[in-house]
Amino acid sequence: MRNIVLITIDSLRYDAISDEYTPFISRLKDKGLFFERAYSLSSWTSPSVVGMLTSTYPLMYGGDLRIRYPRVSVAEILKSEGYATLGFTFHPYLDNKYGFGRGFDVYYDEIRASDLEGMSNSSQSKIVGVIKKVYDSKLMPKMLRNYIWLRMLYRRIVNRKLPYVPGFEINTMVKDHLEDMEEPFFLWVHYLDTHFPYVPLESDKSMDRIAKVNVEREKWFKFGRSIDKHILNELKELYLIKTKEVDKYVGDLVNYFKEIGLYKDTIFVITSDHGEEFYEHGGFHHEMKLYEELIHVPLVIIGNKLKSKVISANVSHIDLFPTIFDILGIPKPREWIGKNMLLNKSHIVFSEEGQKHYGSAFVDHTVRLDISFAKIAILFDEWKYIRGSDSEELYNLERDPTESLDLAGNSEYGNILDAFRNLYKRHLETVKTATPEKFIVSRVVKKRIVKYDRPVEKGFENNKL
Ligand SMILES: [Zn+2]
Repeated sequence: MRNIVLITIDSLRYDAISDEYTPFISRLKDKGLFFERAYSLSSWTSPSVVGMLTSTYPLMYGGDLRIRYPRVSVAEILKSEGYATLGFTFHPYLDNKYGFGRGFDVYYDEIRASDLEGMSNSSQSKIVGVIKKVYDSKLMPKMLRNYIWLRMLYRRIVNRKLPYVPGFEINTMVKDHLEDMEEPFFLWVHYLDTHFPYVPLESDKSMDRIAKVNVEREKWFKFGRSIDKHILNELKELYLIKTKEVDKYVGDLVNYFKEIGLYKDTIFVITSDHGEEFYEHGGFHHEMKLYEELIHVPLVIIGNKLKSKVISANVSHIDLFPTIFDILGIPKPREWIGKNMLLNKSHIVFSEEGQKHYGSAFVDHTVRLDISFAKIAILFDEWKYIRGSDSEELYNLERDPTESLDLAGNSEYGNILDAFRNLYKRHLETVKTATPEKFIVSRVVKKRIVKYDRPVEKGFENNKL
């Protein structure tokens, strides 16, 4: 068992996993390690994936929305270990120019909005830049801009022009590559089908209705309109249909490995980068909140030699690749701060937020997370503490799984609160003191990752090893 396949599913909540909507993933309970309480490192793509691939906290080293040194990505290490590396992400935030393609021999990241089809990445960036300028322009009244946005969204959905590559197409591309793939290899596939807008391939609803339901959600964002209960239920329904679709793609990919005889030599990791809110805490999408619907994620690790086990302790994505490396006997770099989640007994989990983002493809990835906006969730046993710059919340997830009863103001829980305040202080100090200037890359890693030619991307010159 040497090949590694990482499957990340965008915006997939833990509680979307069920026999009805994810029959394939649910069945994996009997095939390997099934984690009931796994947490992402943040509530949105960029910081979450940065942390997972580099086994570091997003707020470290000045707070990153991209992979830059001294963070060392799993693909870089595996490449130096002689792995062939192949990535299919197609997510604008996971673009190679933000460092996510580091260490990959082949990395497919191009955004493929249907009306931008056929253009190079740089032409797409220019067009997106112009759209952003117009959109941000104070010359156009906000109402008009919002109206144009909603019209555009409606038309795109009705015409099925979605800004991502559907999972079944990704699978076709992956299968083509697998035919002549040298072993061992590391493959990363990121499915975006569960991300908003929710547009099922097949549904009883008309395209007009599907578009209207999605647009209603955006009206809540743009005009502060209240959301009708029926619309909310329809949104959830559409999301679950998308979940079912993505489960099929995961099943199709894993089964293909069986067909071509690679299954027994491969370890598969299936997880999501974060969840999705459906008004549980007064909002939609995934940003600036760290409640369960956003950071509690599915996590399954399967492989021929792994015994099946359901693990109910809290675990974090920061420990994911240290665990996989231990299972496969690959030495971990000193730069990774995560531990083997199967041996680590402390099970204190941290998840972070550091900046408001805009829920569109227009996030400026050159900026850093701002520690003064930092919000940190800490989980220990059944307790969860969420601390913002001027807020503090405490929940007992066993008695209150929906986090509706904040216990922070209750003096009865003073001792628990004090313990969490200490953990928070220590964590903040840890991330604050981890600055790039203070960091000395270990000789071992230096030797390992300079073994191959690594392109230096623009803006990274000062971060060279
Ligand atoms: Zn995401």
